[in-house]
Amino acid sequence: MGKNNVLIIGAGGVGRVTAFKCAQRRDVFQNITFASRTKSKCDAIVNDIYDKGCPKTIRTEAIDADKVPELVALINDVQPNLVINVALPYQDLTIMESCLLTGVNYLDTANYEHPDTAKFCYEPQWSYDNKFKKNGLLALLGCGFDPGVTNVYTAYAKKHIFDKIDTLDIIDCNAGDHGYPFATNFNPEINIREVSAKGRFFKDGQWHVTEPLSVQKVFNFPEGIGDKDIYLLFHEEMESLAKHLPEIRQMRFWMTFGESYLTHLRVLENVGMTRIDAVDYNGHKIVPLQFLKALLPDPATLGSRTKGKTCIGCWLSGVKDGVEKFYYIYNVCDHETCYAETGAQAVSYTTGVPAALGAKLILTGQWNGNGVFNMEQFDPDPFMQEIGNWGLPWIETFPNKQRI
Ligand code: NDP
Repeated sequence: MGKNNVLIIGAGGVGRVTAFKCAQRRDVFQNITFASRTKSKCDAIVNDIYDKGCPKTIRTEAIDADKVPELVALINDVQPNLVINVALPYQDLTIMESCLLTGVNYLDTANYEHPDTAKFCYEPQWSYDNKFKKNGLLALLGCGFDPGVTNVYTAYAKKHIFDKIDTLDIIDCNAGDHGYPFATNFNPEINIREVSAKGRFFKDGQWHVTEPLSVQKVFNFPEGIGDKDIYLLFHEEMESLAKHLPEIRQMRFWMTFGESYLTHLRVLENVGMTRIDAVDYNGHKIVPLQFLKALLPDPATLGSRTKGKTCIGCWLSGVKDGVEKFYYIYNVCDHETCYAETGAQAVSYTTGVPAALGAKLILTGQWNGNGVFNMEQFDPDPFMQEIGNWGLPWIETFPNKQRI
């Protein structure tokens, strides 16, 4: 097995950023192979990387990551120490399976979903824990921003700020504007499945279900972003945080949506265009959401048009030395700055950067262990020390009252 040899799978917006970041750190990632279903997408990204002056030694390959034998053959040929899965959540299990068969560590940014059921849940991936343990391998799940950095922020707050956390609100704002009346900032199929699902939050040991986008508040975001409507959604990091930090009494996830996005989404839902079951059209079976994806702008093309900022963070309350305390930790990212560096907008950037840093921490042994892990299970300090230098600095404030 070569030293610090990484295989990145998935040449979308996130894969672009991860490949850029790994290529910028050849001290850590000596050998890089970039593979996707469409090899030409890898080649185009790699050419952009070379245009920035990086060494011209990145290998590209075609791979259908739904097929374990193909994956096994590629992994055996590349001999990586780590596979970074930034394809789609549908490929998580086949890639994990292939890593087990070939004896390679694994990292992803989104938990497994079956294409036919819009329900994300860690259980199918957690059930690999014993197999990874037995094989002396590590799998790190959800190493993007949310999940990912938000889990690390929470672990950091637990380690340094609170004796006991009482409430956690994860608040994700994309205040960027791409100029289209309706487009999604990452894979439309995954995005619409997530947003049109029922909301869920955790309180007093139980999950509570809400109708899709039925709970709304206004939150005042920092750095000039200002007041935005935020909506309660279920998000996967709450599942792992509820397991690993059971002291948290209440946990919610909020995301901003603009009026135009919501109006379009409502209409698309009402006419059946967000359905994920196959319907018959002139003798052909089509899945309306997949057809819609084909009509919508490719998120990878939004980068050059998107202006404005993202702000993602954790608002926590809890107790330190017997005194109630509030803490807000966040990152603000500028779409145009991300695009200038990597050719991708901030939603891809905020996901691809943590994936590359998580990979670095695994390859250098700063994060280690056998089994299947979520981010909050590792020491947050090395990640927090470095993430700013990798492009996602964090800011912490200590509000004197709970605002959410
Ligand atoms: P894109 O749709 O832009 O890219 C996904 C890429 O995966 C495509 O380029 C596609 O390749 C490739 N792919 C799909 N199926 C296969 C397959 N069977 N075999 C090989 N490659 C395949 O998505 P994003 O880049 O926006 O998102 C990537 C991942 O990041 C997703 O899992 C998403 O859920 C996750 N994510 C996580 C976030 C977080 O904060 N944790 C936030 C945003 C996204 P090709 O084009 O070559 O066919």
